Amino acid sequence: MLDDTHRFLDLATERLGLDADVRKQVKQANAEHVFQIDLDNGKSFNAYRVQHNNSRGPYKGGIRYHQNVTLDEVRTLSTLMSLKTAAVGLPLGGGKGGIEVNPRELSTKELEELTRKYVRGLHQHIGPDQDVPAPDVNTNGTIIDWMVDEYEKLTGDTTRASFTGKTIANGGSLGRDAATGRGGVLSLTEWLTLEGNGEKPMRYAVQGFGNVGSFFATTIADMRPDWTLVAASDSQTAVYDAKGLDADKLQKFKEDGGRFKDFDGEKITNEELIALDVDVLVLAGLEDAVSDSNMKTVQAKYLVEMANSPVTFNAHEYLEDKNHVIIPDIIANAGGVIVSYLEWVQNRADEKWSKDKVNQRLAKYMKSATNDLYDYVAENHVGMKLAGFVLALKKLYDK
Ligand code: GLU
Repeated sequence: MLDDTHRFLDLATERLGLDADVRKQVKQANAEHVFQIDLDNGKSFNAYRVQHNNSRGPYKGGIRYHQNVTLDEVRTLSTLMSLKTAAVGLPLGGGKGGIEVNPRELSTKELEELTRKYVRGLHQHIGPDQDVPAPDVNTNGTIIDWMVDEYEKLTGDTTRASFTGKTIANGGSLGRDAATGRGGVLSLTEWLTLEGNGEKPMRYAVQGFGNVGSFFATTIADMRPDWTLVAASDSQTAVYDAKGLDADKLQKFKEDGGRFKDFDGEKITNEELIALDVDVLVLAGLEDAVSDSNMKTVQAKYLVEMANSPVTFNAHEYLEDKNHVIIPDIIANAGGVIVSYLEWVQNRADEKWSKDKVNQRLAKYMKSATNDLYDYVAENHVGMKLAGFVLALKKLYDK
């Protein structure tokens, strides 16, 4: 993933004519915090926070808990955060954190201890004006609430603007839980409207029906009831129904801890889902979901990168060459960090906004970034991912 991101960065910096120093700088983080967390029971875990760029504002980005987390991955994700906040015009920088852990193997008590010790290891480097972490893969409002509490204990800061993605009771924003999925829907539908296909009912599949993918589908069910969700997958299985699945029912099933292999109905594999004859393929799982091994099977005209880097560099080249439209991650999935920003603004002003107000502002950011992308692609005849990177770098380096 790091190599692929660097290849796009090389192409984008070249296109902008940025000098060699800047080219080098954009690939380097300002700071990397690497430490080990030891639990009282003797288990140890590697922990990271990479602070990539803060020229536009405090570092911003989630913390993921996953057994495959590596320093390289966190580096790449932190770079993508700097590009993402710039691409959508937020006054924030980019950072990312992670712990190499499978949280499903920990008890709630161990998870809380791990989380609090992560903050103890980092508290001097983060804060409302310095670096504002948020949830990411396998982290949520409860985990963020523990972080806020630990941070308050260590520093005395009571603004709760030190983290975003908190539960509503603890200073979180209405609309934050659905924001990434909702933002993806807004970007895709805006793109379709710009193309003149806004009215067309679409058949779509969601790869990775977790926090992001499920809210994408429930938002569609709400905003575009004429669209049909034909398949949805978790890490093991996909459920399929050509006549349409009920997004709210699937979301409830997952929230209650269900696995699709136990869901009543027809099952297909993840690879079969990728290859479905649908209009839209929503990629909301992990990185590299569409790569050399399966890119030739993709039939969907539109792909939406709701995960970070779910389509590899080669797969981008191949699919764009065949006129597939791929809404790039740094715009498609920016809804989460946009509403994180709105949460941070509310915390600092000691305000609580209605869900409508939050959603209206989210829509404004998403539409504006999608319009910029559309115009740039139309004027310059370049791929959409490259266009996204160029637009972000222009803002980062004032070009
Ligand atoms: N983890 C999300 C992302 O990758 C949200 C980050 C944030 O809200 O700061 O964009």
